[in-house]
Amino acid sequence: MRDPVPAWVGVGANLGDAQATVQWACGQLLQFAEPGSFCASGLWRTAPWQAQGPDFVNSVVRLDTRLSAPDLLMQLQLLEQQAQRQRPYQNAPRTLDLDLLLFGHAQIWSPHLQVPHPRWAERAFVLRPLAQINPERVSPAALAAVAGQEAQLMPEAQWMPEAHPLNALPKEP
Ligand code: AMP
Repeated sequence: MRDPVPAWVGVGANLGDAQATVQWACGQLLQFAEPGSFCASGLWRTAPWQAQGPDFVNSVVRLDTRLSAPDLLMQLQLLEQQAQRQRPYQNAPRTLDLDLLLFGHAQIWSPHLQVPHPRWAERAFVLRPLAQINPERVSPAALAAVAGQEAQLMPEAQWMPEAHPLNALPKEP
């Protein structure tokens, strides 16, 4: 069996009930996590960035997983399909967008998978939630560079990551 690897997944939606879909997707990601390793940021409302349509709801999830990076990507794409993700044109509004941001120290550059995600460090909708759960991974300079991108922690969904019901699942001894 593979050793667990820490992975970070970006979760976003701006079509349909975006908040419900993002929370559903975070819950689904739990199934790929080693017990006790799952952590989800708060929910953030962000203006579309290199995308179209209404504001997004975003979160970032960290999990230790025994899946390989390609297998995890496949699972992310299956979840997008379950959420009826359509791609009518580039950057169209989406019911669910799941990006594999980081996978341990892996550097992957294949036609179907690039890790670290090529644009993760340019996006407030990644950096702001990531800074909540792994502040050591986001420098003040990186946050300052995305300060012009609108991103607000959703007041109705403010919870500390450790207080999220998903994080309260029993840990294995
Ligand atoms: P999108 O339409 O923005 O969801 O992009 C999906 C496409 O990006 C798929 O064809 C994936 O194979 C590809 N892709 C490459 N690297 C990644 C990554 N790190 N995370 C998610 N999708 C990726």
